[in-house]
Amino acid sequence: MGSDGKTKDHASELSDFFSFRKIADATSRYESAKYVIFGVPFDGTSSFRRGSRLAPDSIRLAYDNLESYEFSYGIDLTSSRICDLGNISVTESASEVVDSVQTVTQMIFSDGKIPIMLGGEHSVTVGAVRNLKDASMIIIDAHSDFRDEYMGNPLNHACVTRRALEILGKNKICSIGTRSVSKEERESKLWNDVTFIPAAKVKKEGIDRIIKEIDTSADRIYFSIDIDGIDPAYAPGAGTPEPYGLMDTDVRSLIDHFSERIIGFDIVEITPVYDNGNTSMLAAKLIQNFIASNEQKSKT
Ligand code: MN
Ligand code: MN
Repeated sequence: MGSDGKTKDHASELSDFFSFRKIADATSRYESAKYVIFGVPFDGTSSFRRGSRLAPDSIRLAYDNLESYEFSYGIDLTSSRICDLGNISVTESASEVVDSVQTVTQMIFSDGKIPIMLGGEHSVTVGAVRNLKDASMIIIDAHSDFRDEYMGNPLNHACVTRRALEILGKNKICSIGTRSVSKEERESKLWNDVTFIPAAKVKKEGIDRIIKEIDTSADRIYFSIDIDGIDPAYAPGAGTPEPYGLMDTDVRSLIDHFSERIIGFDIVEITPVYDNGNTSMLAAKLIQNFIASNEQKSKT
């Protein structure tokens, strides 16, 4: 109680001292944003190394190191209408978390904006894709993620591509970087409903030729990066690392080629406790590349 008899506290003075971490270039309010970033700190079904729940803030921290002016694209990201909502509240239930992601992304899509989701593990992608029955999908992943269920859970992170196929239908999904597949997955009757491009094929033929091969007239593409699709040399901080992967610049080339048609984007499966810092840095840069490339093409 102040001396003038009115209740007075220190809310506004205190707010000058505190903040929650946001992507550095997220200078926009939601209402005026084109790109809406949010984190999903969930790793409840991860089978090998847990810790991807720590990735959203680790990516934000790494992003602080990047110049806001993206030299390669000539784009100033502080004027690119980016908003960062913070992190979704999560429980230990994959089903509840995926439902929350579905609800959040449904609102962002219906407001005509582009969601950029920071995982968390790969299962969170299913929530976004549930809103996109008429879209195509590009997945970067070492794993086919094609199990019908894993450890009794159809929303396990080892089942993401299979769930996406059920939602989007056949010939709509291309998964690039494949090199870890179980015999049962390979022998599935549904295997050819998804285009799997092995990492070895990208290495042999070059990413430009692969882009020509997979490009279609699809004009709405959801782009999901499981960081383990990229070689552990570039991205050591992965939950389930797998040798002989894609180059970081292969993924950048894919983003550049498709950016204008990408309506939603995520980057998942980064495990900061196994990182030397490079993985979160690469994730931050890929997000910046996507936004800068999308901005550059929508200006011309
Ligand atoms: Mn994977
Ligand atoms: Mn995956």
